[in-house]
Amino acid sequence: MKKTLLKITLAIICASMLAGKEASAFQLTPSNWSYKKNPMGENWTICSEGMPEDAVKRTREGAAAWNYEHFKFTFGPNGCLSGGEETIVNEIHQINFGELEPGVLGRTHIWSFTGSGETVECDMRFNDNFSATLEWYTGVDTPSTSQVDWQTTAAHEMGHCLGLNHSELGPGKPVMATSTKPGEIRRTLTEDDINGRNEIYSSSGDEEEFACPLSIAALDVTDSENALETLRNFRDTIMVSTQKGKQYIKFFYKHAIETSLILLRNPDLRAQIAAQLEQLLPVIESSVNGVPAMLTAENVNEIETLLAGIQSKAGHRLKETLRKVKADIKDGAFLPSLGFNVDSDN
Ligand SMILES: [Zn+2]
Repeated sequence: MKKTLLKITLAIICASMLAGKEASAFQLTPSNWSYKKNPMGENWTICSEGMPEDAVKRTREGAAAWNYEHFKFTFGPNGCLSGGEETIVNEIHQINFGELEPGVLGRTHIWSFTGSGETVECDMRFNDNFSATLEWYTGVDTPSTSQVDWQTTAAHEMGHCLGLNHSELGPGKPVMATSTKPGEIRRTLTEDDINGRNEIYSSSGDEEEFACPLSIAALDVTDSENALETLRNFRDTIMVSTQKGKQYIKFFYKHAIETSLILLRNPDLRAQIAAQLEQLLPVIESSVNGVPAMLTAENVNEIETLLAGIQSKAGHRLKETLRKVKADIKDGAFLPSLGFNVDSDN
């Protein structure tokens, strides 16, 4: 199964020329955040430059329509962190205001991994010039027939980001309906919107988050499914049994997206990790089975080289974490605590 970063683009259009469509129930996009422990609990960053007054508030309120116990949109301080680009993959979920085609109100770009469908980034733009005769409405009452409701558009685009495609199923027009008319408000979820959201998140666990960077690293391993299974077993039997091991699982979750992006951008590094993983799998398997496993000094050196390779591409926080990992490896007690003995004569 080949995994590459896939970009999905979804737009909401301004209704005027839409013919009657057959009603259909909610549809899922190929990707979502259900692999995360706190789905979409990463901060959105709104670039308020040029936005109408209160647009930031209405964007947050539009997003909040989707929040429930298993899913929550969160926002950080406003900022323009994507150089004014409509979409740029940079680990920042940017919302901005700028040019789109006439008639298009807003557009969402979703970056995810093919195969697993793990969403890594969402970017969103509201059109600053969607019509010569209509304008945005950013209030909380009812827009006039020459105004289009910002909050309705925000709720719709956020729905794409969480993993829903268009739906026209009644009763009532869903937030995820393809188009919005001037004067129309759809700020709250219909039963169909709720069913769609719950289909994705109500039964989601955090299991698959683990698969993200490792499954990329395992791409070039001969039997990557088996390799992932072994790594999962290692996490669930060995790592969870020590304090340090648990800390490492946390590190792993914390840096999963950044590490994935580094691996995707650096095929050489990925190939080296895959080669090393292939060599170490029998050793890891043996540790999982409770048989003392032996790492050679050369294995340890190679692991250190790979960590340095990731470190050279990493941001500040990941660098700091990797420094700790390297220090732990130097400390003679760490590897044995994970069931590995280092053969220093080799
Ligand atoms: Zn749409």
